[in-house]
Amino acid sequence: MRVGIVEDDDGVAGAIADGLKMHRIESGRMSRGLDVLTRHQEFDVILLDLGLPDADGIDVLRQLRQVSLVPVVVLTARDDERTIVRTLRSGADDYLVKPARMAELLARIEAIGRRMARSSAAPAPAARSFGDIVVDLGSRSLTIGGEPVQLTTKEFDLLAMLLEEPGAAVSRQQLMDRIWGDAFVAVSRSLDVHMNALRSKLGRSGLIETIRGFGYRWTA
Ligand code: CA
Repeated sequence: MRVGIVEDDDGVAGAIADGLKMHRIESGRMSRGLDVLTRHQEFDVILLDLGLPDADGIDVLRQLRQVSLVPVVVLTARDDERTIVRTLRSGADDYLVKPARMAELLARIEAIGRRMARSSAAPAPAARSFGDIVVDLGSRSLTIGGEPVQLTTKEFDLLAMLLEEPGAAVSRQQLMDRIWGDAFVAVSRSLDVHMNALRSKLGRSGLIETIRGFGYRWTA
């Protein structure tokens, strides 16, 4: 985990960095609020002071929240309830009043680390079956009646996207954007070709329904 320390006071920033280092947590220092708007991607957690020389920390937090969900722990001398509530409502994940005890600060950063680990542990892709058609999203394989069917990468991507929500319509633009990285006309013909190939390999009509002027739907 790498912690970004947004703090204009060299003494405070240095003490926090030392404390983190003793627990083998890397950190990086930013002394101006606006630096976090350009550097937040370097960090897993941001420690944000509110009293900054160039901007109010709450404004910085609001701007950051327009582009990033990075966890933010506010560490500030301000301890009035109104500021605490405003800060949490502006998107802070936690709030600590200075001078903070190092052990408590570490424990709160670690708690955020555990929450992040839980939410990023994606569920294992499941095998899905529709009658005798079995699609294994983990191994990217398709069997029909127990017989493996070879799909190209794009054919499998199309199938997987349609199966994300069976029965729901998926637009041509969504499919092209996700699979080809281009939602517009350049790959439109390519989508038709791959969709036709997928349908013929599935071997039965009606499984993938065309929604005229919009896209497709998995009907099983
Ligand atoms: Ca300050």
